[in-house]
Amino acid sequence: MSKTIIVSNRLPVKITEKDGDYMLNPSEGGLATGLGSIYRQGYNIWIGWPGIDVSEAAQPQITEQLGEMNLMPVYLTQEEINNYYEGFSNEVLWPVFHYMSVYARYEQVYWDFYYQVNSKFRDAILRVAEPGDVIWIHDYQLLLLPGMIRAEVPDVAIGYFQHIPFPSFELFRLIPWRVELLEGMLGADLLGFHTFDDSHHFLNAVTRLLPVNASANVVTVNDRAVIAETFPMGIDNEKFEQLSFDPEVLRQLENLKETFHNTHLVLSIDRLDYSKGIIQRLQAFELFLQLYPEYTEKVVLYMIVVPSRDTVPQYKELKEAIDMLAGGINARFRTMNWHPVNYFYRSFPVEVLSALYNFADVGLVTPMRDGMNLVSKEYVASRKDNNGVLILSEMAGASKELIDALIVNPNNIGAIARALHEAINMPVKEQERRMKSMRQVVQKFNISHWVKLFMTRLQEVKQLQQSML
Ligand code: UDP
Repeated sequence: MSKTIIVSNRLPVKITEKDGDYMLNPSEGGLATGLGSIYRQGYNIWIGWPGIDVSEAAQPQITEQLGEMNLMPVYLTQEEINNYYEGFSNEVLWPVFHYMSVYARYEQVYWDFYYQVNSKFRDAILRVAEPGDVIWIHDYQLLLLPGMIRAEVPDVAIGYFQHIPFPSFELFRLIPWRVELLEGMLGADLLGFHTFDDSHHFLNAVTRLLPVNASANVVTVNDRAVIAETFPMGIDNEKFEQLSFDPEVLRQLENLKETFHNTHLVLSIDRLDYSKGIIQRLQAFELFLQLYPEYTEKVVLYMIVVPSRDTVPQYKELKEAIDMLAGGINARFRTMNWHPVNYFYRSFPVEVLSALYNFADVGLVTPMRDGMNLVSKEYVASRKDNNGVLILSEMAGASKELIDALIVNPNNIGAIARALHEAINMPVKEQERRMKSMRQVVQKFNISHWVKLFMTRLQEVKQLQQSML
């Protein structure tokens, strides 16, 4: 019986350590839930890094506990995490793939560790993989892995999905190891991206850089047909629909209603990242307050920034710039009873997020670049009354599906300020028309639909290859 092996940088588990004791809790992210239907079955397994440095003495015990959850760990040293994860993944691939190539640091040592850690993942997979198995690899930390596995066990089905954008060729070509990266990716049989543009950019890079034949979305590699296609990822829609009726969420909602009665609440939620357009969003809100003084004391920007990578200098600087700008706007516009920006630099439990999604009149999501952007879909899924307005950046993958949002260019501060005004003044009928159609999209193309679609397509690609032999 063949099995399915899921591989990602992180395992879907949260491990915490206290005085040498380790606690394991399954993570609740959408992807973990969606893939739960796969890796929890039979001999299927999910391979990845457990997310913390586990002492060598504790590893056998943790491995056993993870094994009971169908999870298999790849332990990484601090040096590997620094160079493969923080280094190559987050300081080379992340900035270039998000069109911020000036932030990239092309260090040879980063690459050496990236290669080494991808090999480590390969070895872990080889311990369990058998001919006929299906291997689904996730995301940009493991671009070399499909090729490395193909070289060892040719007779497996390999899928790869990229959760972040794939940049246009003029960006991708800047990376010193561009050819090796593409060769690694082409070890897969099926490569999935969030948007048509991403898959198109990938195919373009392949034909510009490698001596392979490509026609439409099929690349022929050593007589093997490799297919690149678009699979926009969905969310666990049901979870957000149900949360809207959760007693704790309803309690939080009452608090919000009390605090912000007669106020339009504009919601902004992101991780701290330069790809998220937080600075431009604040500037747009400031311009809005300046252009429409009649909204003094009537609008609040509720802005959550979740701490992330804040020891890296660029992130630290971004955090300081956000602090300054948010503080400056409050100093300039506040009154005795009102702070226009309610800014939080921390994460919140999902019940609070759900209450905010339910309460906010406007969801303001304006990344400079985002592979998909789940916050925008979670906002839509939570609007059980079909009202509320989503303002969405055209640079987010989600904008290709949520076409009934007010779509903006995140660099156009004036356009965002005007969209805010339009959103706040939008007649309820029009809000409902737009929100209903977006809710249908989010409902239908949910995370389990996405998992099924990808897995089915991978089987089809294998059949296609067989028929071409
Ligand atoms: N999120 C969270 N805690 C918070 C705020 C947000 O867990 O305090 C979640 C949010 O619900 C969403 C994810 O973080 O599922 C952000 O995903 P998105 O695709 O929008 O951006 P990413 O951070 O993956 O770039």
